[in-house]
Amino acid sequence: MAKRIAILGTGYVGLVSSVGLADFGNTVTGVDLRADIVERLNEGHPTIFELGLEEYLRRNIDAGRLTFSTDGAAAIRESDIIFLAVGTPPAADGHADLGQVEGAARSIADNLNGYKVVVTKSTVPVGTNRLIQAIIAEQAGVTPGEDFSVVSNPEFLREGKAVQDFFHPDRIVLGYEDDRAREYMEDVYRSLYLIQTPFVWCNLETAELIKYASNAFLATKITFINQMANLAEATGADIHLIAKSMGMDGRISAKFLHPGPGYGGSCFPKDTRAIAATGDQYGVDMSVIKEVIRANESQKIITVGKLVRLMGGSPAGRTVAVLGLAFKAETDDVRESPALEIVRELLVEGAIVRAYDPEAIDNFRTALLGEGPFGGKLDPARRDRIAAAAEERMHYCTGEFEALDGAHAAIIVTEWNNFRNLDLDRAATVMSGRVLFDARNVLDPDAAKEHGFTYAGVGR
Ligand code: NAD
Repeated sequence: MAKRIAILGTGYVGLVSSVGLADFGNTVTGVDLRADIVERLNEGHPTIFELGLEEYLRRNIDAGRLTFSTDGAAAIRESDIIFLAVGTPPAADGHADLGQVEGAARSIADNLNGYKVVVTKSTVPVGTNRLIQAIIAEQAGVTPGEDFSVVSNPEFLREGKAVQDFFHPDRIVLGYEDDRAREYMEDVYRSLYLIQTPFVWCNLETAELIKYASNAFLATKITFINQMANLAEATGADIHLIAKSMGMDGRISAKFLHPGPGYGGSCFPKDTRAIAATGDQYGVDMSVIKEVIRANESQKIITVGKLVRLMGGSPAGRTVAVLGLAFKAETDDVRESPALEIVRELLVEGAIVRAYDPEAIDNFRTALLGEGPFGGKLDPARRDRIAAAAEERMHYCTGEFEALDGAHAAIIVTEWNNFRNLDLDRAATVMSGRVLFDARNVLDPDAAKEHGFTYAGVGR
């Protein structure tokens, strides 16, 4: 039976889930504290860039199954199931900041007018679903399993492929405690059941840790291949063939073996820090993950250092084209994007930066100064230096050739298809220098060299 669902938080996860669950036939209200987001969504305009999202959004609004509201209380009262898709940003000590999760749990407690299932989609440290359970039980004076149930349903969607991932997930993980909650979740995901998506039913703690273990492992895999690429480069080996051959081994798999400027995004950096902090809290050695975090930061510095070396020394007074600002292709998300540190460093070193990204310029503009929801923390003195330099020397461009115009050097930071198919003839004509640093290995090195570029990739 289709359910009435409220989804608290309409960011990347909440919006895609709202649209997807409505498309399964459920009646969904997406709730956000931000009135501007809610207004745009009700008009059928996605507030994030994701392939296919607009079509699904409009289709489900038109079918009357999907609305958006700032009135969380009403949405909770009218729903059988409440999904938490609020943010869990990193706190200063590395732990996940659970302020939004706790706030959402309190508003559920205030509006519990009958049995409801509370489903956590946000990535939360082990123990958080029990905390949510305790907050609701205490504040509303009710009994878990009788008056409400808590389910842990971590989300694995990849930004850039979020809609596709929602409808074709590798698996659905559900941590639960009672059969009534399980039946509700079977109803919610019936469409995925029918296409034989694997379902993993487990306890709350296991579900919570599956999410962190998965992200920490992927971050480790990326960091491993980045270090191998650095070694290949130092020794004259070709990381492309190394990764390809490693990937032929079924135990390893070819995915996530692409070297680059270091991982970024809204998940890997914060989730690796959070699981390391959880290890400390429980007195368990998480040294592998801690080293991954350190090595990833160092990869960003290695990337800038290599660009400066390719330019033959200080970039001061010279123009660098930065192609790609998003943390990966097909998204406008710039949270912890390697481009942030690369551009900041170039500006501090005195370079003139001409940057282009197909989708992420607006988000990058605020994030560069450590502001806005995607900002990250910046030391105030460094922020002022970057702000002054950006005012003077940062140019956002409307296309890759505008960014390359007059540039002494170019760096590809994000693997957008535009850059994979870069017209090297035209690039060589508009640039004033010939340094081309392909930090994502998306170009053919021989073709770049034939066009007279001083080309460098990563690890080959
Ligand atoms: P986000 O920051 O883009 O969105 C969170 C939204 O929640 C914001 O719009 C905020 O205004 C809203 N919000 C906060 N408190 C609220 C409340 N009480 N009621 C209603 N709305 C509220 O976050 P996101 O990227 O969608 O991530 C959400 C969670 O999902 C995080 O825990 C994240 O780790 C996890 N996750 C994210 C991804 C991803 O690719 N972005 C993938 C898997 C899991």
